[in-house]
Amino acid sequence: MNKHINLLACMAGLSIPTTLMGQILENKLPNIIIIEADDLGYGDLSCYGAQNIQTPGMDRIAQEGLRFTDAHCTAATSTPSRYSLLTGLYPWTNTDAKILPGNAALIIDTKRVTLPKIMQQAGYVTGAVGKWHLGLGDGAVDWNKKIYPGAKEVGYDYSFIQAATNDRVPCIFIENGMGVGLEDNDPLYVNYKENFKGEPTGKNNPELLRMHPSVGHGGSIVNGVPRIGFQTGGKKAQWKDEDMAELFLNKAKMFLNENKDKPFFLYYGLHQPHVPRVPNERFIGKSGMGPRGDVILEADWCVQEFLKEMDRLELAENTLVILTSDNGPVLDDGYQDQAEELVGNHKPAGPYRGWKTTRYNGGTCIPFIVRWPAQIKPGVSNTMVCQMDLLASLAVLTGQTYHEKLDSQNTLNAFLGRSEKGRSELVIEGMFNYAYRQGDWIMIPPYPGISKQYELYQIKQDPEQKNNLADKDPRRVRQMMMRMEQLKRETGKVTNY
Ligand code: CA
Repeated sequence: MNKHINLLACMAGLSIPTTLMGQILENKLPNIIIIEADDLGYGDLSCYGAQNIQTPGMDRIAQEGLRFTDAHCTAATSTPSRYSLLTGLYPWTNTDAKILPGNAALIIDTKRVTLPKIMQQAGYVTGAVGKWHLGLGDGAVDWNKKIYPGAKEVGYDYSFIQAATNDRVPCIFIENGMGVGLEDNDPLYVNYKENFKGEPTGKNNPELLRMHPSVGHGGSIVNGVPRIGFQTGGKKAQWKDEDMAELFLNKAKMFLNENKDKPFFLYYGLHQPHVPRVPNERFIGKSGMGPRGDVILEADWCVQEFLKEMDRLELAENTLVILTSDNGPVLDDGYQDQAEELVGNHKPAGPYRGWKTTRYNGGTCIPFIVRWPAQIKPGVSNTMVCQMDLLASLAVLTGQTYHEKLDSQNTLNAFLGRSEKGRSELVIEGMFNYAYRQGDWIMIPPYPGISKQYELYQIKQDPEQKNNLADKDPRRVRQMMMRMEQLKRETGKVTNY
Protein backbone atom coordinates (compact mmCIF):
# COMPACT_ATOMS: atom_id res chain seq x y z
CA MET A 1 0.00 0.00 0.00
CA ASN A 2 2.79 2.40 0.88
CA LYS A 3 4.21 1.77 -2.51
CA HIS A 4 1.06 3.13 -4.14
CA ILE A 5 0.87 6.15 -1.87
CA ASN A 6 4.47 7.01 -2.65
CA LEU A 7 3.80 6.45 -6.27
CA LEU A 8 0.86 8.81 -6.43
CA ALA A 9 2.67 11.48 -4.44
CA CYS A 10 5.63 11.16 -6.70
CA MET A 11 3.67 11.21 -9.90
CA ALA A 12 1.60 14.22 -8.91
CA GLY A 13 4.22 16.62 -10.16
CA LEU A 14 5.42 14.60 -13.11
CA SER A 15 4.16 14.03 -16.57
CA ILE A 16 3.98 10.25 -16.61
CA PRO A 17 1.82 8.96 -19.44
CA THR A 18 -1.52 7.67 -18.19
CA THR A 19 -1.11 4.22 -19.73
CA LEU A 20 2.15 3.83 -17.89
CA MET A 21 0.66 5.07 -14.63
CA GLY A 22 -2.28 2.70 -15.12
CA GLN A 23 -0.08 -0.27 -15.61
CA ILE A 24 2.12 0.49 -12.66
CA LEU A 25 -0.90 1.10 -10.43
CA GLU A 26 -2.13 -2.32 -11.41
CA ASN A 27 0.95 -3.41 -9.55
CA LYS A 28 2.80 -4.65 -12.58
CA LEU A 29 6.10 -3.01 -11.85
CA PRO A 30 8.52 -3.99 -14.59
CA ASN A 31 11.57 -6.07 -13.85
CA ILE A 32 14.69 -4.06 -14.58
CA ILE A 33 17.94 -5.45 -15.99
CA ILE A 34 21.09 -3.51 -16.76
CA ILE A 35 23.55 -5.43 -18.93
CA GLU A 36 26.77 -3.47 -18.79
CA ALA A 37 29.69 -4.53 -20.97
CA ASP A 38 33.25 -3.55 -20.14
CA ASP A 39 35.03 -1.29 -22.68
CA LEU A 40 32.58 -2.05 -25.49
CA GLY A 41 32.64 0.80 -27.99
CA TYR A 42 29.86 2.65 -29.77
CA GLY A 43 30.98 1.17 -33.08
CA ASP A 44 31.48 -2.41 -31.88
CA LEU A 45 27.85 -3.46 -32.48
CA SER A 46 26.39 -4.12 -35.89
CA CYS A 47 23.24 -2.22 -34.90
CA TYR A 48 25.53 0.81 -34.40
CA GLY A 49 27.04 0.39 -37.84
CA ALA A 50 29.80 -2.21 -37.41
CA GLN A 51 30.36 -3.98 -40.72
CA ASN A 52 33.15 -6.40 -39.91
CA ILE A 53 31.54 -7.90 -36.86
CA GLN A 54 27.99 -9.08 -36.34
CA THR A 55 26.24 -8.86 -32.98
CA PRO A 56 22.79 -10.42 -33.49
CA GLY A 57 22.09 -10.78 -29.76
CA MET A 58 22.62 -7.11 -28.99
CA ASP A 59 20.98 -6.13 -32.28
CA ARG A 60 17.86 -8.00 -31.20
CA ILE A 61 17.46 -5.62 -28.26
CA ALA A 62 17.77 -2.73 -30.71
CA GLN A 63 15.21 -4.20 -33.10
CA GLU A 64 12.74 -4.71 -30.30
CA GLY A 65 13.65 -1.58 -28.37
CA LEU A 66 14.96 1.95 -28.50
CA ARG A 67 18.55 2.57 -29.57
CA PHE A 68 20.19 5.77 -28.35
CA THR A 69 22.80 7.53 -30.45
CA ASP A 70 23.81 10.15 -27.87
CA ALA A 71 24.00 8.24 -24.58
CA HIS A 72 26.86 8.76 -22.16
CA CYS A 73 28.58 7.45 -19.14
CA THR A 74 30.12 10.11 -16.88
CA ALA A 75 33.69 8.90 -17.23
CA ALA A 76 35.92 7.22 -19.79
CA THR A 77 37.15 4.57 -17.34
CA SER A 78 35.38 1.84 -15.36
CA THR A 79 35.41 2.73 -11.70
CA PRO A 80 34.24 6.35 -11.91
CA SER A 81 31.69 5.47 -14.59
CA ARG A 82 30.18 2.63 -12.55
CA TYR A 83 30.30 4.77 -9.42
CA SER A 84 28.04 7.32 -11.11
CA LEU A 85 25.64 4.68 -12.40
CA LEU A 86 25.17 3.19 -8.94
CA THR A 87 25.21 6.35 -6.81
CA GLY A 88 23.74 9.01 -9.12
CA LEU A 89 26.72 11.23 -8.31
CA TYR A 90 29.42 12.72 -10.48
CA PRO A 91 32.65 10.80 -9.90
CA TRP A 92 34.63 13.82 -8.71
CA THR A 93 32.42 13.97 -5.61
CA ASN A 94 34.47 11.02 -4.37
CA THR A 95 38.24 11.35 -4.69
CA ASP A 96 38.53 7.54 -4.46
CA ALA A 97 36.45 7.01 -7.60
CA LYS A 98 39.50 6.33 -9.82
CA ILE A 99 40.64 3.08 -11.45
CA LEU A 100 41.08 0.84 -8.42
CA PRO A 101 43.46 -1.98 -7.59
CA GLY A 102 41.79 -5.29 -6.74
CA ASN A 103 42.34 -4.91 -3.01
CA ALA A 104 40.86 -1.40 -2.71
CA ALA A 105 38.22 -0.71 -0.09
CA LEU A 106 34.60 -0.28 -1.14
CA ILE A 107 34.29 3.32 -2.36
CA ILE A 108 30.50 3.62 -2.05
CA ASP A 109 29.35 5.04 1.27
CA THR A 110 27.00 2.33 2.56
CA LYS A 111 24.83 4.94 4.29
CA ARG A 112 23.94 6.59 1.01
CA VAL A 113 21.19 5.92 -1.49
CA THR A 114 22.15 3.74 -4.45
CA LEU A 115 20.29 2.49 -7.51
CA PRO A 116 19.85 -1.05 -6.11
CA LYS A 117 18.73 0.37 -2.76
CA ILE A 118 16.04 2.36 -4.54
CA MET A 119 14.93 -0.88 -6.17
CA GLN A 120 14.86 -2.66 -2.80
CA GLN A 121 12.82 0.20 -1.38
CA ALA A 122 10.34 -0.41 -4.23
CA GLY A 123 10.05 -4.05 -3.22
CA TYR A 124 12.43 -5.51 -5.80
CA VAL A 125 14.80 -8.42 -5.29
CA THR A 126 18.21 -7.22 -6.43
CA GLY A 127 21.22 -9.01 -7.88
CA ALA A 128 24.69 -8.25 -9.26
CA VAL A 129 26.58 -10.66 -11.49
CA GLY A 130 29.96 -10.17 -13.15
CA LYS A 131 32.29 -7.21 -13.18
CA TRP A 132 32.38 -5.09 -10.02
CA HIS A 133 35.45 -2.80 -9.69
CA LEU A 134 34.06 -0.54 -6.97
CA GLY A 135 36.24 -1.87 -4.16
CA LEU A 136 35.33 -4.36 -1.46
CA GLY A 137 35.79 -4.42 2.28
CA ASP A 138 37.49 -1.87 4.49
CA GLY A 139 40.93 -1.79 2.88
CA ALA A 140 42.39 -4.76 4.78
CA VAL A 141 40.37 -7.65 3.43
CA ASP A 142 41.01 -11.21 4.54
CA TRP A 143 39.85 -12.95 1.37
CA ASN A 144 39.33 -16.19 3.28
CA LYS A 145 36.60 -14.74 5.47
CA LYS A 146 33.36 -12.89 4.85
CA ILE A 147 34.18 -9.75 2.85
CA TYR A 148 32.47 -6.78 4.42
CA PRO A 149 31.21 -4.30 3.37
CA GLY A 150 30.49 -5.31 -0.21
CA ALA A 151 27.74 -5.72 -2.75
CA LYS A 152 25.13 -6.54 -0.11
CA GLU A 153 25.79 -3.30 1.76
CA VAL A 154 25.44 -1.36 -1.51
CA GLY A 155 21.99 -2.86 -2.04
CA TYR A 156 22.31 -6.25 -3.72
CA ASP A 157 20.45 -9.16 -2.13
CA TYR A 158 22.47 -11.56 -4.26
CA SER A 159 25.90 -11.14 -5.83
CA PHE A 160 28.35 -13.22 -7.82
CA ILE A 161 31.21 -10.96 -8.85
CA GLN A 162 34.88 -10.53 -9.57
CA ALA A 163 36.50 -8.04 -7.19
CA ALA A 164 37.86 -5.73 -9.87
CA THR A 165 38.67 -6.71 -13.48
CA ASN A 166 39.98 -9.69 -15.43
CA ASP A 167 43.48 -8.34 -15.46
CA ARG A 168 44.10 -7.87 -11.77
CA VAL A 169 44.20 -10.01 -8.66
CA PRO A 170 42.41 -11.53 -6.79
CA CYS A 171 41.47 -13.87 -9.66
CA ILE A 172 38.61 -15.57 -7.87
CA PHE A 173 34.84 -15.16 -7.81
CA ILE A 174 33.00 -13.82 -4.80
CA GLU A 175 29.47 -15.00 -4.09
CA ASN A 176 27.50 -13.15 -1.44
CA GLY A 177 30.70 -11.86 0.14
CA MET A 178 32.52 -15.22 0.25
CA GLY A 179 35.41 -16.32 -1.98
CA VAL A 180 34.13 -19.23 -4.09
CA GLY A 181 36.07 -22.50 -3.78
CA LEU A 182 38.65 -21.34 -1.24
CA GLU A 183 39.92 -24.07 1.04
CA ASP A 184 41.07 -23.76 4.64
CA ASN A 185 44.38 -25.49 3.89
CA ASP A 186 45.25 -23.14 1.00
CA PRO A 187 44.30 -19.61 1.97
CA LEU A 188 44.48 -16.78 -0.57
CA TYR A 189 46.70 -13.75 0.00
CA VAL A 190 46.82 -10.61 -2.13
CA ASN A 191 49.42 -7.85 -2.27
CA TYR A 192 49.77 -4.93 -4.65
CA LYS A 193 53.22 -3.83 -3.48
CA GLU A 194 55.39 -6.92 -3.54
CA ASN A 195 55.36 -10.50 -4.73
CA PHE A 196 55.09 -13.52 -2.48
CA LYS A 197 58.26 -15.58 -2.12
CA GLY A 198 58.62 -18.28 -4.75
CA GLU A 199 55.65 -17.21 -6.88
CA PRO A 200 56.35 -16.74 -10.60
CA THR A 201 55.42 -13.47 -12.26
CA GLY A 202 54.76 -12.24 -15.76
CA LYS A 203 57.88 -10.10 -15.55
CA ASN A 204 60.30 -12.82 -14.39
CA ASN A 205 58.79 -15.92 -15.99
CA PRO A 206 57.72 -15.19 -19.55
CA GLU A 207 58.27 -18.89 -20.36
CA LEU A 208 55.15 -19.69 -18.33
CA LEU A 209 52.85 -17.34 -20.25
CA ARG A 210 50.37 -18.06 -22.99
CA MET A 211 49.63 -14.36 -23.37
CA HIS A 212 52.32 -11.71 -23.06
CA PRO A 213 51.97 -8.20 -21.73
CA SER A 214 52.60 -5.12 -23.85
CA VAL A 215 52.55 -2.74 -20.91
CA GLY A 216 52.43 -3.56 -17.18
CA HIS A 217 50.78 -6.84 -16.23
CA GLY A 218 54.03 -8.15 -14.78
CA GLY A 219 52.42 -9.57 -11.64
CA SER A 220 51.09 -12.98 -10.71
CA ILE A 221 50.42 -15.57 -13.39
CA VAL A 222 46.94 -17.07 -13.19
CA ASN A 223 45.74 -19.52 -15.83
CA GLY A 224 48.82 -18.73 -17.92
CA VAL A 225 47.96 -15.01 -18.04
CA PRO A 226 50.00 -12.37 -16.21
CA ARG A 227 47.97 -9.94 -14.07
CA ILE A 228 48.34 -6.69 -12.17
CA GLY A 229 49.20 -7.33 -8.50
CA PHE A 230 50.33 -10.43 -6.67
CA GLN A 231 48.47 -13.33 -5.16
CA THR A 232 49.38 -16.64 -3.60
CA GLY A 233 47.33 -19.61 -2.42
CA GLY A 234 43.70 -20.29 -3.20
CA LYS A 235 44.80 -22.43 -6.17
CA LYS A 236 41.54 -24.32 -6.55
CA ALA A 237 39.53 -21.10 -6.46
CA GLN A 238 41.41 -19.47 -9.36
CA TRP A 239 39.20 -18.64 -12.28
CA LYS A 240 39.55 -19.96 -15.81
CA ASP A 241 39.12 -17.02 -18.15
CA GLU A 242 37.69 -19.16 -20.94
CA ASP A 243 34.84 -20.39 -18.73
CA MET A 244 33.99 -17.02 -17.21
CA ALA A 245 31.40 -15.89 -19.77
CA GLU A 246 29.27 -18.98 -19.44
CA LEU A 247 29.58 -18.97 -15.67
CA PHE A 248 28.35 -15.37 -15.37
CA LEU A 249 25.60 -16.16 -17.87
CA ASN A 250 24.47 -19.15 -15.83
CA LYS A 251 24.42 -17.11 -12.64
CA ALA A 252 22.39 -14.39 -14.37
CA LYS A 253 19.97 -17.02 -15.72
CA MET A 254 19.72 -18.59 -12.27
CA PHE A 255 18.79 -15.21 -10.84
CA LEU A 256 16.00 -14.91 -13.44
CA ASN A 257 14.68 -18.36 -12.61
CA GLU A 258 14.72 -17.82 -8.87
CA ASN A 259 13.03 -14.44 -9.01
CA LYS A 260 10.74 -14.65 -12.01
CA ASP A 261 7.60 -14.29 -9.90
CA LYS A 262 8.66 -11.08 -8.13
CA PRO A 263 9.78 -7.74 -9.43
CA PHE A 264 13.56 -7.97 -9.69
CA PHE A 265 16.52 -5.78 -10.56
CA LEU A 266 19.62 -7.37 -12.06
CA TYR A 267 22.97 -5.75 -12.82
CA TYR A 268 24.71 -8.10 -15.24
CA GLY A 269 28.27 -6.94 -15.81
CA LEU A 270 29.72 -8.62 -18.89
CA HIS A 271 33.50 -8.88 -18.48
CA GLN A 272 34.20 -8.48 -22.22
CA PRO A 273 35.91 -6.99 -24.18
CA HIS A 274 38.18 -5.81 -21.34
CA VAL A 275 41.65 -7.36 -21.27
CA PRO A 276 42.86 -10.07 -21.00
CA ARG A 277 40.71 -11.22 -23.89
CA VAL A 278 40.49 -14.97 -23.45
CA PRO A 279 37.36 -16.33 -25.08
CA ASN A 280 36.00 -19.83 -24.80
CA GLU A 281 37.48 -22.05 -27.52
CA ARG A 282 34.14 -21.96 -29.37
CA PHE A 283 34.83 -18.33 -30.26
CA ILE A 284 38.55 -18.46 -31.02
CA GLY A 285 39.23 -17.17 -34.52
CA LYS A 286 35.56 -16.57 -35.27
CA SER A 287 35.73 -12.79 -35.73
CA GLY A 288 38.86 -12.59 -37.88
CA MET A 289 39.87 -9.70 -35.65
CA GLY A 290 41.77 -11.64 -33.05
CA PRO A 291 40.83 -12.02 -29.39
CA ARG A 292 39.16 -8.62 -29.08
CA GLY A 293 36.68 -9.42 -31.85
CA ASP A 294 36.25 -12.98 -30.59
CA VAL A 295 35.28 -11.91 -27.07
CA ILE A 296 32.78 -9.42 -28.51
CA LEU A 297 31.16 -12.37 -30.30
CA GLU A 298 31.25 -14.27 -27.03
CA ALA A 299 29.62 -11.37 -25.15
CA ASP A 300 26.99 -11.16 -27.85
CA TRP A 301 26.28 -14.89 -27.53
CA CYS A 302 25.78 -14.36 -23.80
CA VAL A 303 23.24 -11.63 -24.49
CA GLN A 304 21.47 -13.83 -27.01
CA GLU A 305 21.26 -16.76 -24.59
CA PHE A 306 20.13 -14.50 -21.78
CA LEU A 307 17.31 -13.09 -23.93
CA LYS A 308 16.26 -16.64 -24.84
CA GLU A 309 16.01 -17.49 -21.17
CA MET A 310 13.84 -14.42 -20.63
CA ASP A 311 11.60 -15.66 -23.47
CA ARG A 312 11.41 -19.14 -21.98
CA LEU A 313 10.36 -17.70 -18.62
CA GLU A 314 7.91 -15.33 -20.34
CA LEU A 315 9.64 -12.34 -18.79
CA ALA A 316 10.33 -10.29 -21.91
CA GLU A 317 7.10 -8.29 -22.17
CA ASN A 318 7.23 -6.50 -18.83
CA THR A 319 10.98 -6.29 -18.28
CA LEU A 320 12.98 -3.15 -18.93
CA VAL A 321 16.31 -4.30 -20.34
CA ILE A 322 19.11 -1.77 -20.71
CA LEU A 323 22.20 -2.80 -22.67
CA THR A 324 25.18 -0.49 -22.36
CA SER A 325 28.92 -0.21 -21.71
CA ASP A 326 30.91 1.45 -18.94
CA ASN A 327 33.23 3.44 -21.21
CA GLY A 328 34.61 3.68 -24.70
CA PRO A 329 36.74 1.07 -26.45
CA VAL A 330 40.49 0.46 -26.43
CA LEU A 331 42.67 -1.76 -28.63
CA ASP A 332 46.06 -2.39 -26.98
CA ASP A 333 45.30 -2.27 -23.28
CA GLY A 334 48.40 -3.94 -21.93
CA TYR A 335 48.56 -7.36 -23.64
CA GLN A 336 50.01 -8.43 -26.98
CA ASP A 337 46.73 -9.72 -28.36
CA GLN A 338 46.89 -8.27 -31.90
CA ALA A 339 43.94 -5.99 -31.32
CA GLU A 340 45.63 -3.19 -33.29
CA GLU A 341 47.12 -5.40 -35.99
CA LEU A 342 43.85 -7.15 -36.83
CA VAL A 343 41.33 -4.34 -36.43
CA GLY A 344 41.27 -3.61 -40.19
CA ASN A 345 38.52 -1.20 -41.17
CA HIS A 346 36.57 -1.77 -38.00
CA LYS A 347 35.99 1.41 -36.00
CA PRO A 348 35.39 0.47 -32.34
CA ALA A 349 34.28 4.02 -31.43
CA GLY A 350 32.12 4.32 -34.55
CA PRO A 351 32.21 7.80 -36.08
CA TYR A 352 33.73 9.32 -32.97
CA ARG A 353 37.21 10.45 -32.08
CA GLY A 354 38.71 9.16 -28.87
CA TRP A 355 38.89 6.00 -26.79
CA LYS A 356 38.70 4.74 -23.27
CA THR A 357 40.44 7.30 -20.98
CA THR A 358 40.07 10.22 -23.40
CA ARG A 359 37.76 13.23 -23.20
CA TYR A 360 36.79 13.01 -26.85
CA ASN A 361 33.33 11.68 -27.59
CA GLY A 362 34.47 8.09 -28.19
CA GLY A 363 35.49 7.90 -24.53
CA THR A 364 32.01 8.35 -23.09
CA CYS A 365 29.46 8.08 -25.89
CA ILE A 366 28.52 4.45 -25.42
CA PRO A 367 26.04 1.94 -26.81
CA PHE A 368 22.76 2.29 -24.94
CA ILE A 369 19.65 0.37 -25.91
CA VAL A 370 16.45 -0.06 -23.91
CA ARG A 371 13.77 -2.66 -24.48
CA TRP A 372 10.45 -2.89 -22.65
CA PRO A 373 7.89 -4.27 -25.10
CA ALA A 374 4.96 -3.35 -22.85
CA GLN A 375 5.87 0.35 -22.85
CA ILE A 376 8.63 1.29 -25.29
CA LYS A 377 8.08 1.75 -28.98
CA PRO A 378 11.02 0.40 -30.99
CA GLY A 379 13.11 2.98 -32.83
CA VAL A 380 16.11 5.26 -32.53
CA SER A 381 16.51 8.20 -30.18
CA ASN A 382 18.99 11.02 -30.72
CA THR A 383 18.22 12.55 -27.33
CA MET A 384 21.19 13.05 -25.05
CA VAL A 385 20.92 10.82 -22.00
CA CYS A 386 23.33 9.75 -19.28
CA GLN A 387 23.63 6.52 -17.29
CA MET A 388 23.93 8.58 -14.09
CA ASP A 389 20.28 9.63 -14.60
CA LEU A 390 18.97 6.09 -14.36
CA LEU A 391 18.84 6.33 -10.57
CA ALA A 392 16.49 9.33 -10.46
CA SER A 393 14.51 8.09 -13.46
CA LEU A 394 13.99 4.55 -12.20
CA ALA A 395 13.05 5.97 -8.80
CA VAL A 396 10.24 7.86 -10.52
CA LEU A 397 9.25 4.80 -12.53
CA THR A 398 8.94 2.71 -9.38
CA GLY A 399 7.41 5.50 -7.28
CA GLN A 400 10.30 6.00 -4.93
CA THR A 401 11.65 9.14 -3.30
CA TYR A 402 14.92 9.92 -1.54
CA HIS A 403 16.13 12.90 0.39
CA GLU A 404 19.70 13.23 -0.74
CA LYS A 405 20.76 15.76 -3.31
CA LEU A 406 22.13 13.85 -6.26
CA ASP A 407 23.52 14.77 -9.67
CA SER A 408 21.18 12.20 -11.19
CA GLN A 409 18.27 13.87 -13.01
CA ASN A 410 14.89 12.44 -13.83
CA THR A 411 14.88 11.91 -17.60
CA LEU A 412 12.52 8.92 -17.51
CA ASN A 413 10.45 10.09 -20.45
CA ALA A 414 13.57 10.38 -22.58
CA PHE A 415 14.69 6.87 -21.59
CA LEU A 416 11.24 5.55 -22.55
CA GLY A 417 11.24 7.41 -25.88
CA ARG A 418 8.33 9.64 -24.84
CA SER A 419 10.24 12.91 -24.84
CA GLU A 420 13.13 14.47 -26.67
CA LYS A 421 14.12 16.36 -23.57
CA GLY A 422 17.10 14.62 -22.05
CA ARG A 423 20.13 16.04 -20.35
CA SER A 424 21.14 19.56 -21.35
CA GLU A 425 24.68 19.44 -20.02
CA LEU A 426 27.22 16.96 -18.74
CA VAL A 427 30.71 17.10 -17.32
CA ILE A 428 32.84 14.34 -18.85
CA GLU A 429 35.73 12.75 -16.99
CA GLY A 430 38.69 11.44 -18.97
CA MET A 431 41.51 10.23 -16.80
CA PHE A 432 42.30 12.91 -14.19
CA ASN A 433 40.84 15.57 -16.47
CA TYR A 434 37.49 16.93 -17.60
CA ALA A 435 35.51 18.20 -20.55
CA TYR A 436 32.10 19.83 -20.67
CA ARG A 437 29.15 19.20 -22.96
CA GLN A 438 26.39 21.77 -23.30
CA GLY A 439 23.72 21.15 -25.91
CA ASP A 440 25.63 20.06 -28.99
CA TRP A 441 28.86 21.78 -27.92
CA ILE A 442 31.85 20.12 -26.29
CA MET A 443 34.59 22.18 -24.67
CA ILE A 444 37.88 20.51 -23.69
CA PRO A 445 40.28 22.59 -21.59
CA PRO A 446 44.06 22.22 -21.88
CA TYR A 447 45.68 19.60 -19.67
CA PRO A 448 49.40 19.22 -18.86
CA GLY A 449 51.05 16.57 -21.00
CA ILE A 450 47.96 16.09 -23.19
CA SER A 451 46.98 19.36 -24.79
CA LYS A 452 48.03 23.00 -24.57
CA GLN A 453 45.01 24.65 -26.09
CA TYR A 454 41.30 24.91 -25.55
CA GLU A 455 39.17 22.82 -27.89
CA LEU A 456 35.59 23.47 -28.89
CA TYR A 457 33.51 21.21 -31.12
CA GLN A 458 29.99 21.09 -32.47
CA ILE A 459 29.49 17.36 -32.03
CA LYS A 460 26.45 16.83 -34.27
CA GLN A 461 28.09 18.56 -37.24
CA ASP A 462 31.58 17.34 -36.48
CA PRO A 463 31.41 13.85 -34.89
CA GLU A 464 35.10 13.27 -35.60
CA GLN A 465 36.00 16.39 -33.61
CA LYS A 466 38.36 17.59 -36.33
CA ASN A 467 37.31 21.19 -36.48
CA ASN A 468 38.40 23.05 -33.34
CA LEU A 469 36.25 26.20 -33.10
CA ALA A 470 37.79 27.55 -29.90
CA ASP A 471 39.60 30.44 -31.62
CA LYS A 472 36.47 31.41 -33.53
CA ASP A 473 34.19 31.42 -30.51
CA PRO A 474 36.21 32.40 -27.41
CA ARG A 475 33.10 33.72 -25.68
CA ARG A 476 31.49 30.31 -25.78
CA VAL A 477 34.67 28.71 -24.50
CA ARG A 478 34.77 31.14 -21.57
CA GLN A 479 31.09 30.67 -20.76
CA MET A 480 31.39 26.88 -20.89
CA MET A 481 34.57 26.89 -18.81
CA MET A 482 32.87 28.99 -16.14
CA ARG A 483 29.81 26.78 -16.12
CA MET A 484 31.90 23.61 -15.83
CA GLU A 485 33.86 25.05 -12.94
CA GLN A 486 30.63 26.15 -11.28
CA LEU A 487 29.18 22.66 -11.64
CA LYS A 488 32.30 21.07 -10.26
CA ARG A 489 32.21 23.45 -7.28
CA GLU A 490 28.55 23.26 -6.48
CA THR A 491 27.05 20.07 -7.81
CA GLY A 492 26.75 16.85 -5.96
CA LYS A 493 28.95 17.63 -3.00
CA VAL A 494 28.75 14.56 -0.82
CA THR A 495 27.39 15.31 2.60
CA ASN A 496 26.81 12.82 5.36
CA TYR A 497 23.35 11.73 6.27
CA1 CA B 1 35.62 -0.42 -18.51
